[in-house]
Amino acid sequence: MKINLAKSAGFCFGVKRAINIAFDTAETKSPIEMLGDIVHNEEVVKEIEKIGIKKVGKLTPDGNKILLIRAHGAPLKTFQIATRLNYQIVDATCPMVKEIHKIAQDSEKKGYRIIIIGDKKHNEVQGIAGQLKEKAIIIENIRNIPIKKSKNILRAAVVVQSTQNLEKTLAIVAILKKHIKELKFFNTICRPTRMKQQEIRIMPKKNDVMIIIGSKTSANTKRLYEIAKSLNRRSFWIQSKKDLKPDWFKNIKSIGITAGASTPDSTTNEVIQYIRKDSQQAL
Ligand code: SF4
Repeated sequence: MKINLAKSAGFCFGVKRAINIAFDTAETKSPIEMLGDIVHNEEVVKEIEKIGIKKVGKLTPDGNKILLIRAHGAPLKTFQIATRLNYQIVDATCPMVKEIHKIAQDSEKKGYRIIIIGDKKHNEVQGIAGQLKEKAIIIENIRNIPIKKSKNILRAAVVVQSTQNLEKTLAIVAILKKHIKELKFFNTICRPTRMKQQEIRIMPKKNDVMIIIGSKTSANTKRLYEIAKSLNRRSFWIQSKKDLKPDWFKNIKSIGITAGASTPDSTTNEVIQYIRKDSQQAL
């Protein structure tokens, strides 16, 4: 049985960078807080807690603390409140997310209404919307395009959550173009996501079974799974080796494996190890 691991499997550049910043900051020994999880992965979150970085629900005015901004970024309001409450800010926002902030802000200054294609509740999308003066229009999928509202907009600029599905995004943009006179589209899906999506469009067709590793809270893993499942119904989304079922590997010649942008290599390696050794014994 051949195991084919995607070249793009695992941590993306932005997540690696944010984790390194977290570890470096922890060495200062100052109290460090973070609003939410550093990335959507339980293993990584545990590691971060172990080095003393505390996840908090809100900022409090009790002493000189560090606020670590996560890879997804944060709204401007968070920076303002943290500064007012005397926090020292360490900003681990991914540079590719920063780029989306800049495009959205510049376009707004030029008079464009900002449309964000992405998951409304996702921190990255809230962070992008939170850079703007006007309320952004957020479109999650082709079914919730506000057609009536769009017809009243003369000029709009579209930016995209970095981990969105390109095909779905292009379908939404095509509809918006029919209703908005001047529409500028910035494809801000980041390079690591594009690479992952390119591979996941090929691998499920070339392998008998496809395994996608990542937390159930990870949006980019979910998208990888959705694409894989549409191409090969023997695609399975697992969080760790514990979710593997020996049945999946009966009478097959090859397994494709990929992992979301917040899945550590250690989890992926354990899965590969299990499939290579333990599952063979179980069969
Ligand atoms: S998925 Fe892309 S934008 Fe998001 S942290 Fe990774 S590299 Fe940055």
